Amino acid sequence: MQSITILGATGSIGVSTLDVLARHPDKYKVFALTAHAKVDELAAQCAQFLPAHAVVGTAEAAQKLSALLREKGLRTEVAYGEEALCAVASSPNTDTVMAAIVGAAGLAPTLAAARAGKKILLANKEALVMSGQLFMDAVEENGATLLPIDSEHNAIFQSLPQSYARSPRGAGVAKILLTASGGPFLARAVETLEAVTPDQACKHPNWVMGRKISVDSATMMNKGLEVIEAHWLFGAPANLIEVVIHPQSVIHSMVSYVDGSVIAELGNPDMRTPIANALAFPERIESGVAQLDLTAIGTLQFEKPDFQRFPCLALAFEALEAGGTAPALLNAANEVAVQAFLEHRIGFRDIDRVIARVMHENDHGAASSIEAVMAQDARARSAAETIISGIQR
Ligand code: NDP
Ligand code: MG
Repeated sequence: MQSITILGATGSIGVSTLDVLARHPDKYKVFALTAHAKVDELAAQCAQFLPAHAVVGTAEAAQKLSALLREKGLRTEVAYGEEALCAVASSPNTDTVMAAIVGAAGLAPTLAAARAGKKILLANKEALVMSGQLFMDAVEENGATLLPIDSEHNAIFQSLPQSYARSPRGAGVAKILLTASGGPFLARAVETLEAVTPDQACKHPNWVMGRKISVDSATMMNKGLEVIEAHWLFGAPANLIEVVIHPQSVIHSMVSYVDGSVIAELGNPDMRTPIANALAFPERIESGVAQLDLTAIGTLQFEKPDFQRFPCLALAFEALEAGGTAPALLNAANEVAVQAFLEHRIGFRDIDRVIARVMHENDHGAASSIEAVMAQDARARSAAETIISGIQR
């Protein structure tokens, strides 16, 4: 029996994870579930999966959750705040941690899991983008296992040899081909992007996801963050990672080898596939996802990304090249700008403008410690808020 903690259980990835777990009650038991504010949803999950612990964001949320659990006669222990998140992520009573909190808020508990040597199923790409080498060092020094949930990285993981040791050249890798759907605005006239609404930006053609990552897909910052994520996960320099637009999202990414072979992972766009793959690795379990019907799909298309249309992609490559805390600046500015866009405080194209200004108006120091990264994150957030208050419509 694997004992699992799900950080971000009420989100899109969290719900998909529970869906897979529910299909295999003989293999997995839930140790802890966490949410931020969705207390009713978390209480319903507790009633179904009977975790020992549940963690929420605030004292009020914890009080409300405790009352709901009491009504249901459940004995789940309730706590709140970052320390409690870190405690359930590093507890000796959990083997596996699904890191599915959105954004920088996931860094501390995911790092706690790494320091405790857990098996980490990583969906929370922002944590790795921010902390890069520091996070990878924590994984290695503490004997943790890191398995990618992001569909592209899970596809790359499946397309690399099992013995892969973070050295692309050593494994004969010529390129990592990161596929991107191009999001909802791939074909829209660029001049009209100024006026798109949050609901339009969140309407992804292939994937159903949380609102933050949906906006990231529309700006292609998601792909930019994924380039940085691939750099750290697979030890690949920026010039070995190529973004290929593939609107059908059937090929989830590929590895191209020096002998001309290209290995890809294909499937229906449903996150339960990479979740099941990482949960059971190196075995295979059923995920509930239908088998791929290639003849029904018929055509797969590919094109080069347009960096003019998607300036966020260029900014992410720039941050990766700059190194140090530049990716932390990029990530924090993006989180603040996306939130402001979702709250109708700025326009869609202001997102890339805010990030570019934060990146170009602030120094990128060395990422010497997690504290230095967090300080840079805080600086970038306040710089982004200042810029946003200057451009608010
Ligand atoms: P959602 O917005 O759907 O869910 C986010 C989860 O994190 C919720 O459980 C939420 O709680 C919790 N949360 C939000 N803010 C905080 C906070 N400050 N402290 C603690 N918990 C918090 O996001 P997704 O599931 O879409 O994405 C989660 C992560 O997975 C992201 O990093 C994303 O990039 C990555 N990912 C997602 C994919 C997808 O298909 N959705 C694909 C690949 C990667 P509450 O519900 O209570 O607000
Ligand atoms: Mg992805």
